[in-house]
Amino acid sequence: MLLGFHHVTAFAGDPQRNLDFYRRSLGLRLIKQTVNFDDPATYHFYFGDARGAPGTLLTFFPWPTAPAGRAGAGQISSVALAVARESLPDRMAGTRFNEPWFQLCDPAGLALELVLAGSAATRLHSVTLRESDPEPTAEFLTAVLGFHAAGREGERTRWRANGAVIDILPAPDAERAKLSAGMVHHVAFRVSGDAAQLEWRAKLIDHGVRVTRVIDRRYFRSIYFREPGGVLFEIATDGPGFFIDEADPGRALQLPPWLEPTRESIQRRLPPVNLR
Ligand code: ZN
Repeated sequence: MLLGFHHVTAFAGDPQRNLDFYRRSLGLRLIKQTVNFDDPATYHFYFGDARGAPGTLLTFFPWPTAPAGRAGAGQISSVALAVARESLPDRMAGTRFNEPWFQLCDPAGLALELVLAGSAATRLHSVTLRESDPEPTAEFLTAVLGFHAAGREGERTRWRANGAVIDILPAPDAERAKLSAGMVHHVAFRVSGDAAQLEWRAKLIDHGVRVTRVIDRRYFRSIYFREPGGVLFEIATDGPGFFIDEADPGRALQLPPWLEPTRESIQRRLPPVNLR
């Protein structure tokens, strides 16, 4: 079984504005500052709870010079966070599946939803997928990933696997999305460890899904694949976690051992930020 969400990763715009919004406005902890391991000229920021627990993590690649994107089909169109009552604005947008919620945008334009869902600390609540044809995605979620139907409201259908909740909205006439700043890159689901991840990898291959090898993300290990509508999914291990390279995570730029020899040139190219 998937144990719930691990993280959601999106493209941000300006790195300082991204830091300020998630730390100060949403009250999340910066649990790691590092770079995109595949493109070390770009930051990778991880926000979450005090321990960086899987299920609380939102991560960003700031991309100040991003070309224009296009919202469309095959895209995660919004990310919902479960929050405590005191985090919610007075005026709610309404209720969805009997939970009060409120919509806002981050500085890059990413659509966020705050949901009052009986949560003490902020954590991932759900993601919404826009799909030109919801049927194959729903079939994939249930037949392969172990989700079950959890309700319908208007055109919106809800699917659940433990703590992971996916809503699907049909977008039959939309063009295919083109990702840019303010858009989600992928969603990751949790497994306890390497053995469970390898079982999932074998199962996906059995179902004819093209899945990557296991990739070392330093703080967890990952496999990636696409659901039938084109949204990128990841399955990530809980460990080793964010305390592997620093005792007080998030304070200083961390690089994996293979990038450490080029730290100076990497830091010279990154725009300076401060944790004010
Ligand atoms: Zn990821």
